[in-house]
Amino acid sequence: MNNIYDNEMKIEFLSKSSNEAFARIAVAAFVAQLDPTLEEIADIKTSVSEAVTNSIIHGYEGKTGIVKLICRIVENEVFIEIIDEGKGIENIEIAKQPLYTTKANLERSGMGFTIMESFMDEVEVESTLGIGTKITMSKKIKSNNKEENVAVTAVRREE
Ligand code: ATP
Ligand code: MG
Repeated sequence: MNNIYDNEMKIEFLSKSSNEAFARIAVAAFVAQLDPTLEEIADIKTSVSEAVTNSIIHGYEGKTGIVKLICRIVENEVFIEIIDEGKGIENIEIAKQPLYTTKANLERSGMGFTIMESFMDEVEVESTLGIGTKITMSKKIKSNNKEENVAVTAVRREE
């Protein structure tokens, strides 16, 4: 039993676009125990969506593969990993540049990494061509809204 984390969850799902909503809702429901604000929840959901969409569209390119999602809580901080065993990224620094996309023909805008970096505190990208990609991101949940309980209600209402 690993006692480094206060809490942890892991899920695996197929690289289907219908699982993008599943992934972000699962993370939001798990993170709700930290009593995040609506804004904090929205930031995390958007970032998870961007990373999962990248695994599906760029990593597996329409082929069926497995996306792993790990979510850990340490005190008031959430750590999220999104892992695929897809094609990998040739040059991570270039891929992270705003507006850089290898799929302009599919109407991608090249803003996924920029969005993750602006909404989360830390974003780390590890990738090897032909092996896959792992995104690790973290965010401190600053406020406690136990009295209002707004975030939990919002998670239930959404989608
Ligand atoms: P947008 O996210 O705005 O729809 P995008 O996905 O192209 O467009 P980013 O999310 O910033 O933009 O990703 C930039 C580029 O990095 C992608 O075009 C792709 O080449 C590469 N990339 C990102 N994630 C992965 C991944 N999981 N596997 C392989 N390549 C990836
Ligand atoms: Mg993207």
